[in-house]
Amino acid sequence: MMTEVDRNQKPETRNQKKRGRIFVLSAPSGCGKTTLLKRLLRDKELKLVHSISMTSRPPREDEKEGIDYFFLSKEAFMEKMAKGEFLEWEENFGNFYGTPRGLVENAIKAGENIIFSIDVKGAMSIRKAYPGRSTLIFILPPSLEALEERLKKRKTDESYIISNRLKIAKDEIVYKDKYDYSIVNDNLAGAYKKLKKIITSI
Ligand code: ADP
Ligand code: 5GP
Repeated sequence: MMTEVDRNQKPETRNQKKRGRIFVLSAPSGCGKTTLLKRLLRDKELKLVHSISMTSRPPREDEKEGIDYFFLSKEAFMEKMAKGEFLEWEENFGNFYGTPRGLVENAIKAGENIIFSIDVKGAMSIRKAYPGRSTLIFILPPSLEALEERLKKRKTDESYIISNRLKIAKDEIVYKDKYDYSIVNDNLAGAYKKLKKIITSI
């Protein structure tokens, strides 16, 4: 709630209070999280810093090193893990995924707003590491049938991986109640509008 003191502050001082926030997007694979994230990062009104994860998964055709992920071998990932270089890490679909500590700590020090696109367990770890600073947003598919259709159309996974992703999706959707917000990505423009409204209102 805005107090009298807040109202009397100059707008730029009020805006400064909104800095150094953390937004975490999670969704079962194929729900459109990456599509929404890319839109957010392109949106000049938002100035969000992307927490670029490291992964031992090989890059997909359209993915770029240092933009979508930092790609590295399993061995190199485990070495970093042992040195405590990750704020959090998880194993998904036989590959490792982790948040490099340095990027996040530097962005927070600089008062920048950061966005994460990570799984449900990672989201819980981030909230625990930065309580009070984090807003967790869950993206849902219109239905499991629609999700299967999107994964097939994306053509990045073999059918056994798609079946696995769908099985995991059912388990992940249970977590949505632990999030601050959930958005159904049925219509992309509508879902983006809701997402942006949440981010700008915090
Ligand atoms: P995720 O990052 O959650 O795995 P993606 O962003 O890769 O998902 O989206 C999965 C597929 O669904 C992509 O081919 C994307 O273009 C498509 N997609 C995303 N949002 C929508 C939507 N609202 N309606 C239909 N297709 C969508
Ligand atoms: P994908 O292979 O589809 O890019 O990602 C698989 C899953 O790993 C997704 O749910 C994605 O959000 C998650 N993920 C990506 N990076 C990280 C990370 O740094 N930490 C955690 N915990 N999960 C991640």
